[in-house]
Amino acid sequence: MHINVFKFGGAAVNSSAGIKNVAGIVMKFNTGPLVIVVSAMGKTTNALEQLLNDYMKKDPIAIVGSYQKIWDFHFSILDDLFSDKNHEVFGEVESLFNMLRGYIRKGHLYTTTPLDYDFEYDQIVSYGELISASILHHYLVFRGCSCTQFDVRDLIRTDSTYRDARVDWKTTESLIQKNIRGYFRDHRKPAAIALTQGFIGCDPLHNTTTLGREGSDFSAAIFAWCLQAKELTIWKDVPGVMNADPKWITDAVCLETLSYREAIELAYYGASVIHPKTIKPLENANIVLRVKSFVDPNLPGTSVINLREWEITTPIFIRKQNQMLISVSPRDFSFILEENLSEIFRILANFRVKVNVMQNSAISFSICVDADPLKVNPLIAYLKKDYETRYNEGVELFTIRHYNDEAVNRMVNGRKILMELKSRHTLQVVLAKNRDAEL
Ligand code: ASP
Ligand code: MG
Repeated sequence: MHINVFKFGGAAVNSSAGIKNVAGIVMKFNTGPLVIVVSAMGKTTNALEQLLNDYMKKDPIAIVGSYQKIWDFHFSILDDLFSDKNHEVFGEVESLFNMLRGYIRKGHLYTTTPLDYDFEYDQIVSYGELISASILHHYLVFRGCSCTQFDVRDLIRTDSTYRDARVDWKTTESLIQKNIRGYFRDHRKPAAIALTQGFIGCDPLHNTTTLGREGSDFSAAIFAWCLQAKELTIWKDVPGVMNADPKWITDAVCLETLSYREAIELAYYGASVIHPKTIKPLENANIVLRVKSFVDPNLPGTSVINLREWEITTPIFIRKQNQMLISVSPRDFSFILEENLSEIFRILANFRVKVNVMQNSAISFSICVDADPLKVNPLIAYLKKDYETRYNEGVELFTIRHYNDEAVNRMVNGRKILMELKSRHTLQVVLAKNRDAEL
């Protein structure tokens, strides 16, 4: 039995037209047993994060406003999709909203102990996926698909690291095998669909967990791995994996084939098209990853496959904006020794600051990090106690895989280089703040 997996992100299901388009894609491209993994609709996860913040602050007026916005958004989509107002989807979605409201009311009114942000996050923000899966499932059935909805909390078992849960692969594999493979075995309709939620899981205490922002790609890879699927297709709003962000480089091209290794490197350097955790399970089971456009589904897209001997000639550009370059040196002009470095890494880990690129000289150590003031400001204040600490704000980090002179000139474009790192295949430069380059 060859199972395929489709993943649709928030942008694919951000409106009634989006959902109709998804249904069209499913009906056209599904040939056999198919698992569909869906994210929350549009920007619902952000809206739920807002609701969560209002709830943590116990601000009743803000809570009502944020809740209502999410309700209105989903019910206006439902109204467009289903002309029969007695359709059972209305009751099902309403009851999910009632559960969310009940949870918030209980925590807000009756809990006197301090709330744990990460735990509450997973209990509340996960409703985005529960609601979108319910809507998409009913719409696919309405369009005649043979589709059954599964609660992913019965399938993906994780630990209790809320907001960044780790998968218990063994239990998850046996749950998915038993329930999903079993469903396809018993349900011998051609093109049977098992639809479920991305992003969420369940811990051994039966609490909902989440896998980290943008984690639905990873959910889809978990299903693909556990079912030894033939292919995973991630449907995106771009034609495939591009050699640069087309919003930035207007003549960006779509890469037809990539090796798993290249895809992992790209995700590592910050190409946002593939979630970094997604590739490993696919590579391990030799599952083809297709990245295709839901806007233009007939385009071939990108295939990520097992290629050993592979020379890419097209330079690939990755741009990280809103970066900060921090340089530290010991005050006494001593060398940057291992003791200093391990101390600095310990401090970075304590402040949960991730290093995007680093370089050291005899007396200084420089790092480029995301300019998140909540993390970086306290870090700098702390470093200043023991080290001479300087920083540049508003810098950009560019990575070029498979660089050549022309690509480098094009990217630097006369800007001041603050730091440069070169290896055989990869060039990274930190460029000073200046005009918004359109290459
Ligand atoms: N809905 C979640 C998010 O926006 C997960 C995902 O979309 O992959 O982060
Ligand atoms: Mg998303």
